[in-house]
Formats: sequence, structure tokens, C-alpha cells
Amino acid sequence: MGLRLTNTLTGCKDEFVPSDPQYIKMYACGVTVYDKCHLGHAMQAILYDIFARYLRFKGYKVTYVRNFTDVDDKIIARASQLGVSPLELSDQMIEISRRDMLSLKVKPADFEPRVSEYIPQIIAYIQDLMTKGFAYVGQDGSVYFRVRLKEDYGKLSRQNISELRCGVRKDVETGKEDPVDFALWKVEETPGATWDSPWGRGRPGWHIECSVMASEILGDSFDIHGGGRDLVFPHHENEIAQSEAKSGGTYARYWVHNGLLTVNRQKMSKSLNNFISIEDAVRDYGYELIRFNIYQYHYQSNIDFSAQGFFLGLSRLYSMYRTRQRVIDYMARHDLTPQSANSHPGFHQAFCEAMDDDFNLPRVMVVIQSVLQSQNEIMDKKFSAQNAMELLSLESLLHNILPILEIGLREPQEFFHEIHSRYLALKSLTFAWVTEKIELRMKHRTDKNFAMADQIRDELLALGVSLLDSRDKTSWELSEKALEELILLK
Ligand SMILES: [Zn+2]
Repeated sequence: MGLRLTNTLTGCKDEFVPSDPQYIKMYACGVTVYDKCHLGHAMQAILYDIFARYLRFKGYKVTYVRNFTDVDDKIIARASQLGVSPLELSDQMIEISRRDMLSLKVKPADFEPRVSEYIPQIIAYIQDLMTKGFAYVGQDGSVYFRVRLKEDYGKLSRQNISELRCGVRKDVETGKEDPVDFALWKVEETPGATWDSPWGRGRPGWHIECSVMASEILGDSFDIHGGGRDLVFPHHENEIAQSEAKSGGTYARYWVHNGLLTVNRQKMSKSLNNFISIEDAVRDYGYELIRFNIYQYHYQSNIDFSAQGFFLGLSRLYSMYRTRQRVIDYMARHDLTPQSANSHPGFHQAFCEAMDDDFNLPRVMVVIQSVLQSQNEIMDKKFSAQNAMELLSLESLLHNILPILEIGLREPQEFFHEIHSRYLALKSLTFAWVTEKIELRMKHRTDKNFAMADQIRDELLALGVSLLDSRDKTSWELSEKALEELILLK
């Protein structure tokens, strides 16, 4: 069975059939660049990047568009606060956003259009809507969309216009024919954020921006349109109304909506003082922990960030790298090279089935967990050529699928060094001190002074350092308690 997606348009998990069997076109609403990006933006960018990567992994050609909204009330307000021009502010924020995405290892989209670069196209689009009778100039000189003329308006958010009417607040846009109509072009004169148009100086409304950028790059009809659940109404509903009014055909065929981000089960907001910027989160936790946290949830549910979630993520990541290191050592010891095996067919299928099931990332994480467990079980057994082949095929599978998720790809030694340095610094300890203790214990053991040796082991364990004795050497790792402390004391 192929990919199935929960489509907001039908309310069902639909079989995904792209209009071209080899080529998928996808658009996701990007950020409004008035401030630094936060974890919510990280979550959305990571999710749609993974969707695109997986579709490519399945062999499709993909064009993925994610826009920057650089013309907006919030940008104008903040720019005037800061005493810069709106476009200067958005230039700056776009640069920060690109840096943030790089630090999260999110690949750039194929197209990252900015509204300010599409003004002539937006004007032409509105003119077309006007010719078709869907747009009109209101009494205040701004241009509005005639919602009532679009008979299937409300099909995405499942509401009908008569009910909508009472929900619409009495706003200042008195120039409208009907309170449900929305602005396509707002006539006003903010310096640096307005352009000349047949209707006077002004700027586009928010909804028309996405419709124009999407259709300019992907065409009038494309496969997947994504965004946060909070965008279903009015933003996406209005995008559909405009686009289908103009083209007469179907706009996006599948509408995918992700849940929102919460911090300790609360909405993230500046007023609640739980606002986490991408920059701070990457510095404090690293991109892999942020990803582990996201992968614990299905994209449609709200994704919660909490210290407990980060701890769980760290514990799993630590154990993942422990297995990665063990495999590297095992392969070196037995002179094995990973290229010599095909991807493990059983787990390959399990991975694809999980992803095909509406990008079910928690299920994918269970599959990866099982792969790592199988590798450990093989390495626990007596060496045989058959076991080695099995291990290599699991290794080959991980090489194929981990880059989609962008986890577990670092050198294990580098990962451990970073985590251990952080922990030792937190406890005011050093690597040299731990090594000294281990050597002292070794000496006690050589002297058959086992009580003293055990005392050192216990002392280290109480500090979170757990010793591992093998035939020829003693190494160490952090205890679960230490990992927890590392997160909680952040
Ligand atoms: Zn949009």
C-alpha cells in the first residue's frame, strides 16, 4: 500500500495519488518575518522537510516551496518600533531564519519566495479576479474578495457562510459590501512597505500572497498544501476561494495540517514567559534532541516540549550512539565493511509502512529502536558469517533512513565528548580526574584490594559516572540519573 495522508479537505486518511505519478508539488506556509523564529517554526520546518525527504526517498521528484511573508502588519509595527524600514527588518530576520534552519539541519526548500518580490504578479492576479467578478473596489478604496459568490466557500473548515456572518467581528473596514469579504489589496501609504497599483498605493492582503506565490511556482493546481492547524481558517479557506475562483479548477489536492507547539502543555507565548527561540534551544539541547522531542508525537497532534521530553530524548539518543559506537568497533574487529550488504528488507518495509501511514514518526522511532536492539542482539551472539551479514544489512538500512530524520549521523565519539564535557562542567569535574580515579581503582584491583576498588566505583556512580569493565580496559558512561540532571539543571 502506498502513502496515506490525513486530508483536511475530506476529513479522512486518503490514499495519496499525485497528479503526476513521478512528480510531487508541495507548498507550506512559512514564517512571517517580524521577529526571531521560535521552536514552533522549528517544528514545522523540520516536519515538512522530512516529508519532502521521504517522498524523494520513495523515488518521486519533488518541488517544495516554503515562503517568507515579508509584508505584514506585524512587520510594519515592529520596524517602526525599532526605527528601521520594514524590508530592512525582514531582510535581517530572513537571514537569522536561514541560520536557524542550518543549525537544525533543515534543508532549504527548493523555492523560498518572498512576498515583496511578487508584487506585480499579485496585482495582475487581483485584476484577473476583478475581471471575473470576484473582486471589487470598496468604498474605502481597498480591494475585497466577494466571498458569497464562491459557492463552496467554507469547504476546508466546514462552515457555511450564513453561520460565519455572526462570527465576524465588526471591523474598521467599512468599505466592504459584505462583512464576510476579505481584503486583497489594502490601500495605505506606509513608507517602505507599500507599492503603486491601479487602486492607488498600498499592499497585498495576507491570503492573496500565498495563492500567488504557490501558483506562480507550482501552477494553478498542485498536490500538497501544508501549514499549522491555526491556518485552516481563515487563511487557507481564503487561499482556496481566491485560487479556485481565478482558475476554475482545484487548488491544492491534499491539505495537511500540523498541530501546534506547547511548552509544558501550555501555548508558547511571550506573555507566559515560556517563549523558546530556535537559537536558545539549539544551544541548550542541540538539534538532535529537538528532533527526538518532535518525533515522539504524530504531526497532527500538538507537540509538547518539556524537560521530561528532552530527558527521554537524551536517554534514547545516548543509547543510540552507544549502539552506533559498538557497531563501529565490532566491524573494525571483524574486518567488515558496510557496503557489502543490502538494506535489511524486513525493517526497510516496516519503516516505509510507518512513514506511509500518514508520516507516523512515533511508529518510525519504534522501528529504529528495534533495529538498534537487533544489532545489539547480534553482537551479543557468537560471531558467524551469517550474523555478520545480518548486522551489515541493518547497518545499511540505517544509512538509508537516518539521513531522512537527521539523527544519529554524528561520529559517536564526538557526541559522547560533547555530552560528557557538558556534564563534567556542570559537576565541576574534569576528564583527567575521572581517568585518575579509574587508574587508581585499577591499581587497587591489581593489588587485590577489592574493597577499595569497589569504593571508587561507587563513588563515581554516585556522581553519575558509570564504569564499564571489558577484558582489556575500563571505560565509562553517564548514568540515567546523570542524563536527567543534565537536562533538569539546564
Ligand atoms: Zn500561507
